[in-house]
Amino acid sequence: MTTKETAPGGGEGKRYLVDCNGCSYERAATGRDEATRIGTDHRRETGHELVAIELPPTTETA
Ligand SMILES: [Zn+2]
Repeated sequence: MTTKETAPGGGEGKRYLVDCNGCSYERAATGRDEATRIGTDHRRETGHELVAIELPPTTETA
């Protein structure tokens, strides 16, 4: 599991795209913990290697 980060520190509340190198599996996750959990689950099931790509922050205003 490799985590690519464009900004130092934090990780809480950030959005990640968990992308599989072994198949077309991909999932969006919020927070590094969820990204890691998704990646670990898929890896355990398939043995595939996954990458968590940090998504740019959304700048939506209410
Ligand atoms: Zn896979």
